[in-house]
Amino acid sequence: MYRPVLPYGRQTIEDDDIAAVVEALKADFLTTGPTVEAFEDAFAEAVGARHAVACSNGTAALHLAMLALEVQAGEVVIAPSITFLATANCARYVGAEVVFADVDPGSGLMTPETLAEALTRLGGRKLRAVLPVHLRGDAVNLPGLAALANEAGAVLVEDAPHALGTNMTFANVAERVGDVRHSAMATFSFHPVKTIATGEGGMVTTSNPALAERLRTFRSHGMLRPMGAEPWWYEMGEPGFNYRLPDILCALGLSQLAKLPRFAARRRALAKAYGAALAPLEPVLRIAQRPMWSDPVLHLMCVLIDFEAVGLCRRQVVDELRERGVGTQVHYIPVHRQPYYRERYGDLNLPGAEAWYAHCLSLPLYPGMTDEDVERVAEALKAVLGL
Ligand SMILES: *Cc1c(COP(=O)(O)O)cnc(C)c1O
Repeated sequence: MYRPVLPYGRQTIEDDDIAAVVEALKADFLTTGPTVEAFEDAFAEAVGARHAVACSNGTAALHLAMLALEVQAGEVVIAPSITFLATANCARYVGAEVVFADVDPGSGLMTPETLAEALTRLGGRKLRAVLPVHLRGDAVNLPGLAALANEAGAVLVEDAPHALGTNMTFANVAERVGDVRHSAMATFSFHPVKTIATGEGGMVTTSNPALAERLRTFRSHGMLRPMGAEPWWYEMGEPGFNYRLPDILCALGLSQLAKLPRFAARRRALAKAYGAALAPLEPVLRIAQRPMWSDPVLHLMCVLIDFEAVGLCRRQVVDELRERGVGTQVHYIPVHRQPYYRERYGDLNLPGAEAWYAHCLSLPLYPGMTDEDVERVAEALKAVLGL
């Protein structure tokens, strides 16, 4: 029987999302209209931040964060090696150097221990920012990382595209990813596989009004309109970019954001179903370790597989799962291994990142999946791994 392959992630676009976009297309402003602010306000409210600044994508969000902090050429930004390329690349956009932090091999997350080790490799250079990633949706130890960053004279910027909707508890205080209680800013993406989708889209949240202002200025060419100036007047202090998110996409974002509670509940239910369905596959297959403070809305269903124990390589498992209708992906190839960074910084020894990469696999997870789909994935894994 032919069954379509379950992708590792996909968007959920419904009729009212489409209607919202059609409405936006009929409105007066296709790009900078009232829906941009409406989306920003709703987003800030959803994550508990004072300010939210919409931008063209998650990569632009990271670049804007570096610009708003005035990170200078030659200064250092610390990023984990297990992340998407953009987390590290944003430092290079402003001429800063990347020091790659290792990750915990069981969770894939930067920890205070791996950050402390990275701090020993600064070589006398000035550290400006630390960019932890809430990999797959599980929250990093924000207070622990913030304490170390502050001590080093740097700020935290959370790269949070995986963790929209994630709750955390630190010292008995309930917090949300994006509320930026421990960091200067948090960045988000609305790429179709993320928790809400606008096609391309991004957001930066902050509680600092000066940072919010700078993010907005850099988002639109560096143009300033001084209060009381002539209506046509603008001034540019520094060149910015065109990183605006159009009204059309903000309309889609607003419509999607209203569904976040439902999407989040569905992702939580699917994660729970996976927990039960995959338990019999332990210890050959284990779900990535959840830190005790993290109550995630998972973006990715990451598992760690002991390929050696079953005598298979990952390629065989990936191919055989695909034949059984199960799509997978690897999150991520350690960024420090990329030819560009190897040429720049040489070969690094980050054993946690290597161990994570050697074992990780992301299984299908998106709100449109059924409980039967989860069973199907677990059955396929059982068969392929010979368990
Ligand atoms: C998706 C993602 C980005 C980049 O977002 P885009 O919108 O695709 O530019 C950056 N960092 C992480 C961790 C991501 O998952």
